[in-house]
Amino acid sequence: MGLKFWFKFKYIFLWAMGGYFVFHPLTMIIGSFMLEPHELFIRAISGTVVSKTVASFSLRMLPWGLSYVILNGLIGWFHATSKLRELEIRRSFQTQTVLNNLLKLSLDITPLEEVLRQVIDEVISLPWFALESKGAIFVVEDDAAVLEMKAQRGLSAPIQKDCAHVPFGRCLCGRAAQSGKLVFAVRIDDRHEIEYQGMTPHGHYCIPMVISGKVTGVMTLYVKEGYHPTAREEEFLQAVADVVAGILQRKQAEKALLESEKRYMELSITDGLTLLYNSRHFFERLGSEIERAVRYDSFLSLILLDIDDFKQYNDTYGHPEGDKVLARLGEVIRESSRKADSAYRYGGEEFTVILPETEVESAVNVAERIRNGLESLIFSPASGEEVHKTVSIGVAQYRPHEELSSFMNRADTAMYQAKEQGKNRVFFSKLEPGNGAGR
Ligand code: GH3
Ligand code: MG
Ligand code: MG
Repeated sequence: MGLKFWFKFKYIFLWAMGGYFVFHPLTMIIGSFMLEPHELFIRAISGTVVSKTVASFSLRMLPWGLSYVILNGLIGWFHATSKLRELEIRRSFQTQTVLNNLLKLSLDITPLEEVLRQVIDEVISLPWFALESKGAIFVVEDDAAVLEMKAQRGLSAPIQKDCAHVPFGRCLCGRAAQSGKLVFAVRIDDRHEIEYQGMTPHGHYCIPMVISGKVTGVMTLYVKEGYHPTAREEEFLQAVADVVAGILQRKQAEKALLESEKRYMELSITDGLTLLYNSRHFFERLGSEIERAVRYDSFLSLILLDIDDFKQYNDTYGHPEGDKVLARLGEVIRESSRKADSAYRYGGEEFTVILPETEVESAVNVAERIRNGLESLIFSPASGEEVHKTVSIGVAQYRPHEELSSFMNRADTAMYQAKEQGKNRVFFSKLEPGNGAGR
């Protein structure tokens, strides 16, 4: 091998190294963003081997050597691009999976708090998004300008306490709620008005949930101090916020429906004039209370009362005045009963009270309170007139295993005995059969 060869070889070497230094570093740089460390290592080794091989080729092999180097660069370039595409596909698959899971959650019948906790879990589980594994979701409830922390993950007790209620405009979440726009903080700054015990440096994403221009809640997520947001993350969080807003809207609609069903239910068992339960509900309830008394061998008493000379009152002063007496008697019965008791308008001017776990003596006391309560009221059905109305009351205590009708008959008989004995009094049915009623 002569000098000429070495001279030419220098150029071959330079060409080869040129290829090596241009293409190989290029693929290494691109690769460093998206290849795993072991892949990068293989790439580095292969580049070295290729360049060495090419460098030792003779002039005759120059086109081959150059092609080899260029090919190597092209393969690296192609490899890097397909890696990038693959990574892109993987990320959008992960994002889609999380969004799908959130949509599934939105159809869940589990309570709102649990659904929101699962939303936080899903979002912080996303591998490509460097979120800390903690966060919270606030909801705008009865007070339209306050965020209430409804669900959280990984937050300390002090922050849960201090951020339980956040007014609109206060701190980062309040600002997101007020503006209806995403708020990001690289680090704790002046806007982070709430300081809690044990607070460590961090950054924040606060994403408002908006439906028809109305903020219904805010989701707050944590990032490391100094972290910078990306458009991809914001786009993803916006999609999450839309799903959560939908969940909140559906849950609120469900709640309103439940409330109206409950109200309708209440109305269907309530007497509109006295606001006591109606007779339909009385029979349902008496049946179940008897069952309970039998099962637990507990006491059960019943009060039955009837307004004295009510027809005469109606005839004298008119039906509307009679209605006022009925409504006031309803109040007296409610005020005189205890929490566990339930009161009913049984018929036109007849009322009942069911007293669970109550012996006849205590039931008589309640009855006396009702009797006294009505008697002490003054009605003015006509100008210059003051009228007192009275009731006659029968009380009975349930006898083990007696029929519902027999139990009611005994209270009824006691009430009629009270009428017979001059009205405005309480009579009770003796517990032992055949003893009749006593005062
Ligand atoms: P007693 O002392 O024996 O019970 O005599 P009473 O007049 O109260 O009894 P009676 O059964 O003869 O009359 C009941 C009256 O109750 C007749 C009816 O006008 C009246 N009444 C029933 N339901 C209503 C109502 O919803 N509003 C009004 N204002 N009166 C009613
Ligand atoms: Mg009557
Ligand atoms: Mg009457």
